[in-house]
Amino acid sequence: MRIKPTLLIISALASALVSTTSVFANEVNIYSARQEELIKPLLDNFSRDTGIKVNLITGKPDELISRLASEGRNSPADLLISTDVGRLYRAKVRGVLQPIQSDVLTSAIAAELRDPAGQWYGLTMRARPIMYVPGKVNPDELSSYAALTDPKWRGRICVRSSDNIYNQSMVAGLIAHQGVAATEQWVKGLVANFARPPQGGDRDQISAAANGVCDIAIANTYYLGGMLSEPEQRATAEKVKVFWPEQAGNGVHVNISGAGVAAYAPNKANAVRLLEYMVTEEAQSWYAQVNHEYPILAGVKSSALLQNFGEFKADQLNLEKLGELNGEAIRVMDRAGWR
Ligand code: FE
Repeated sequence: MRIKPTLLIISALASALVSTTSVFANEVNIYSARQEELIKPLLDNFSRDTGIKVNLITGKPDELISRLASEGRNSPADLLISTDVGRLYRAKVRGVLQPIQSDVLTSAIAAELRDPAGQWYGLTMRARPIMYVPGKVNPDELSSYAALTDPKWRGRICVRSSDNIYNQSMVAGLIAHQGVAATEQWVKGLVANFARPPQGGDRDQISAAANGVCDIAIANTYYLGGMLSEPEQRATAEKVKVFWPEQAGNGVHVNISGAGVAAYAPNKANAVRLLEYMVTEEAQSWYAQVNHEYPILAGVKSSALLQNFGEFKADQLNLEKLGELNGEAIRVMDRAGWR
């Protein structure tokens, strides 16, 4: 029997409707340690493209991990988003994530920026370089993190406290490369050169350098990027410049923001789909621009602001190591007197 073309069209429409309806019934629940404004437009795009409703709960990273742990099998969470691999590793060790295998993710994300076991994936990258005040510091005097212990920097360095995960991860990276003893000596030398007892966040270190409290600050790149993009902070931020340390050695210390699928995700397939969406060119471009972070997908340009910081060689260490060595890093910093 010959089927009329109109009937074919109707049946195609009907099957499209069925699949659309089933997609619309879907949702994905996110626990996010990133602020809503940094990811919401991205999630809205994902919902628009897929019909999957996104429910977002934001909170402090360690609280979200504890919540996942205490909710256990009853947790509604599908995806945990956080910054710093140290925290994603903590989530993995507490058993609140599950391994995901995805060719899309493994081909988009460099091996060192994801968990070898697939429990967390980097989505953006940030670096923790040396920032200096031109006129007070000649960049020719700078080289490695190790060289910051030189007595010529006495009273000239600003960096936040050791209870901050960014510093813990940086120290963990040094331990991975040079061992505990050398790293402990380094921390002692760095502390001896502090301009003041650690206080405030990364932005405060940049401001302190700009305002003459110190000549050198250690801070994450996106904080300087953020300050440069804000009219009321720009003049302050313009007083400091980025120096990329370790370029003749292991490369500058880098970290990620990333995500992992929750251990008992009720909507696991949607969580994986969202992760895969976040490494598309469109998502990478938007996400990196808004947060002033580096895209992890090769070929996607970073913001003009970040491009001004110049090219750099990043440490190739697998970031999982930073998580593994977090406890050791904290003990080293305690012993060496980094408060
Ligand atoms: Fe931060």
